[in-house]
Amino acid sequence: MKPYVMGIDFGSTTSKTVILDMDGGIVASAVSHKGSVSDEGAKASIAEALAIAGITQKQVVRAVSTGYGRRMLEVSDKSYTEITCHARGAIAMVPEARMVIDIGGQDSKVIAIDALGLVSQFAMNDRCAAGTGKFLEALARAVGVPLEDMGPMALRAVEDITISSMCATFAETEVVALLAEGKSKTEVLGAVHAAIAARLVGLVSRVGKREPLVMTGGVAQNPAAVHHLEKALGLKLIIPQRPQIAGALGAALIALDEAREHAADAADEDDKVDASLDAARCGTPTCTAPQARVTEQVIHGPRPH
Ligand code: ADP
Repeated sequence: MKPYVMGIDFGSTTSKTVILDMDGGIVASAVSHKGSVSDEGAKASIAEALAIAGITQKQVVRAVSTGYGRRMLEVSDKSYTEITCHARGAIAMVPEARMVIDIGGQDSKVIAIDALGLVSQFAMNDRCAAGTGKFLEALARAVGVPLEDMGPMALRAVEDITISSMCATFAETEVVALLAEGKSKTEVLGAVHAAIAARLVGLVSRVGKREPLVMTGGVAQNPAAVHHLEKALGLKLIIPQRPQIAGALGAALIALDEAREHAADAADEDDKVDASLDAARCGTPTCTAPQARVTEQVIHGPRPH
């Protein structure tokens, strides 16, 4: 039975699972939308990824979880913070990255990466909906536009309207008032995306802007969010092919490190067995069996939030 490792990002809005082979190749990934921190959602993304890979859970030798619900997952051997996993996944996707902006459903994070690819600093907004995917979801609902359509529609805005409320609830009231004044949905959505970008600029300046800058998280799939963020920061963002699975990929890569550490231990122990066998062949009187040892790999640099 071929072994694999798994990373699960049990997010506030979606659950993501990535399965890697022991060479680090992605064999499957799945995203499930089943409501906030949904156990059902996590199970669905795991089941889908296993089905895509054509393997069973028994073949998963190590599973690492991250995200809001990371400690709730029974299948996970260990959990790591979103900062660690998103940074790890983003660097795997874009090795030259020196900064990561991740905008998910419930929080946004800005992570600075040093020359060794380790987390050197980060800032996070998880106390307020403004600057998160939920803010965009709420305002898409208020305008009456499907989430997937709001970005492309907002890109067509030409008028400069400002939404001054940074609180999601007040912003919603402001959006309704603008629509009542006769502003078009397109113009209002343009203003909504400019507002979220302004919020993120504040978070970036807390850490200090660095480039190359990669954007991950579900909101990176929204072209207007990317456009307004690029405009507000005055730079070009790198968007990986599947930005939403960055955290799950990072978790899977840590699981792989840990599985290899165990494999390296097993190899060390096997060397000792080998040496003991040699000694036994040479007729040495004592031959001690090696002790089983389990080592947890510590990844250096990142600070838990
Ligand atoms: P979490 O990890 O916190 O669950 P995600 O990284 O999955 O969050 O991001 C969820 C957010 O991504 C949603 O709130 C939504 O704003 C945005 N999003 C997800 N899919 C799309 C899409 N196809 N188009 C635009 N925005 C999207």
